[in-house]
Amino acid sequence: MTNVIESKAMETKKEYKAPARIAQSGCSFLIQDEKPENIFISEDFNEEQRMIHDMVQDFCKAEIMNVMLNRGREFEITKDKDEVLELMSKAAELGLCGVSIGEEYGGIDLDFNTSCLFAEAVAPGFSFATTIGAQTSIGSLPIVYYGTKKQKEKYLPGIASGELKAAYALTEPRSGSDANSGRTSAKLNEAGTHYHINGQKMWITNGGFADVFIVFARIDDDKNLSAFIVEKNFGGISLGAEEKKLGIKGSSTVQVFFEECPVPVENLLGDRNGGFKIALNILNTGRIKLAAGATGGCKMSVNQAVTYAMQREQFDTPIAQFGAMKHKIAQMAILSFVGDAAVYRTGHNINLKTEQFLHEGKSENQAKLGAIREYAVECSLLKVKCSENLDYAVDECLQIHGGMGYSAEVGIEMGYRDARITRIYEGTNEINRMLSLAELTKRAIKTKEVDLVGAGKKIPSYILKQYLPFKSNSGWKQEERIVKNIKTLFMMLSGKAGQKLKEKMVDEQEIVMNFADILAEAYFCESTLLKVQKLEKNKIYQGKDLEIRKKAMQVYLYESLDICRKSANEAINSWATGSEKKWMKRFTNILLKDYGINAKNMRRDIAEYIYEKGKYTL
Ligand SMILES: Cc1cc2nc3c(=O)[nH]c(=O)nc-3n(C[C@H](O)[C@H](O)[C@H](O)COP(=O)(O)OP(=O)(O)OC[C@H]3O[C@@H](n4cnc5c(N)ncnc54)[C@H](O)[C@@H]3O)c2cc1C
Repeated sequence: MTNVIESKAMETKKEYKAPARIAQSGCSFLIQDEKPENIFISEDFNEEQRMIHDMVQDFCKAEIMNVMLNRGREFEITKDKDEVLELMSKAAELGLCGVSIGEEYGGIDLDFNTSCLFAEAVAPGFSFATTIGAQTSIGSLPIVYYGTKKQKEKYLPGIASGELKAAYALTEPRSGSDANSGRTSAKLNEAGTHYHINGQKMWITNGGFADVFIVFARIDDDKNLSAFIVEKNFGGISLGAEEKKLGIKGSSTVQVFFEECPVPVENLLGDRNGGFKIALNILNTGRIKLAAGATGGCKMSVNQAVTYAMQREQFDTPIAQFGAMKHKIAQMAILSFVGDAAVYRTGHNINLKTEQFLHEGKSENQAKLGAIREYAVECSLLKVKCSENLDYAVDECLQIHGGMGYSAEVGIEMGYRDARITRIYEGTNEINRMLSLAELTKRAIKTKEVDLVGAGKKIPSYILKQYLPFKSNSGWKQEERIVKNIKTLFMMLSGKAGQKLKEKMVDEQEIVMNFADILAEAYFCESTLLKVQKLEKNKIYQGKDLEIRKKAMQVYLYESLDICRKSANEAINSWATGSEKKWMKRFTNILLKDYGINAKNMRRDIAEYIYEKGKYTL
């Protein structure tokens, strides 16, 4: 029988119409101005997509968050394994285990951007978000994207129905960030029927109860890893004890040992030597979904903070009324707003690119993977910024709760602990910062997909124009200029550093991280500005509702200028000398002129607006 979410998803697919246009290609945001009408904003989600979001969120609140709060303790996999498995079954009944699996295999195959909305909605599931995330993302997408028809028919229906629990086994004790250095080996037997896998995997989410593992191992002396679908009951697999973790204690994380584990040759996934590519591509999809989930967590933190701040009184005043508290609540809301703008802009571009690639004759899997690959830089930036936004939000949420925040009873410290993992898995934030620059450089220099060199030639004349003072802030001129200036700053500094340091640049990681931060600010500022412009243009909000969103965007731009100023100066001081250093500093100051807004008052207005609504509604 078709369940509620499934039927909603089908309606969604039928009625979902992407604008008939070609999406801006990956990284082009740096060199092309985008029009507000061309970006997707979360307000564009239709009724059915919103219903999916609300149903998933309600499920997580009712079955997980409220259960933990009533019980006064979080789920712990060592004590509550049966309950966690029961939750998986309930989630599967609602169709949640098959969100990215094709209908022919029993899934509901949400389009990419709706699957990001799903990831946001799971945030109140806390550690369960990791459990279901491993099932629907890293544990099953390798089969969805790279499996043969036979492999899909064999495994996907079970994963979609929740009968099979899935896990992804890449990391090893000696190979984490350097994943392709794994030592787990796969050797073909003499009969040529089975690979025998030997080795050890570590930190495997869902590993304690998984029936199917996507295992990455090296065949003989191959350069790269290969991927295998390994059933627990193949034999030769043993599990370590559940890891004692800082957070997400309700999720299973174990070591998995393989000793002469026999894997039929037909369970090789994709090509021999092609496993590392699979691993990387799957992590790319995971990064934007992690960003969506983190944004959901940010919004939830705002709600928790507001509820508490409005009822807690000190000095005969609700603490919500103190300026220091308004500052924090507004900042948390602004970061949620900004994350939302950047995530769904990117998610929709992935949808559009998929459609474009399909139209060009690519297979469904090639189209989906190609589209995600296209936005690899944006996905890395989203992962970094949104996970760091979440850490800010949970930290300030705890602070607003004072001593109660530190108590295990109200669940605030659990959110604080649970959030921390988002900066570590799906590629650490350091690795993602470096990846974003490496991938951009490849697209600019090797494949020439982004004409940074051409754009760089226009920089001197552009900077000269910036000596002119801002005219009146008619429309959005000043904000548009700020965004363009941040992009220009990035191109100027990274271009100059690249010329000077050349291949030594990869050893100057601190400078690369500075540039990645400026690049991220360019993308997040632009996404937020475009979102507000679209809200205004399409009259989605008017009056005070629009004003508050404008203020959120303006305060973000104001903060971004500071981040960019610090990163730029640090980078320049690291490598430039003499007159070059002098003029680069001068240009940086010109590009990052003081915005001059009253950020304090704007934050107060934003906080008061949220108090009026009683929750995050931006
Ligand atoms: C709770 C949890 C669940 C997980 N789930 C899974 C799972 O389901 N499947 C799976 O395969 N893995 C999983 N992981 C593993 C996770 O992906 C890795 O922990 C992560 O990739 C980092 O690897 P590492 O822990 O070995 O750290 P390391 O790679 O040792 O990194 C340690 C530090 O060094 C930095 N560093 C490393 N290399 C560089 C470099 N070249 N330049 C600069 N800095 C560098 C890192 O950024 C980090 O700060 C999970 C981990 C945890 C904690």
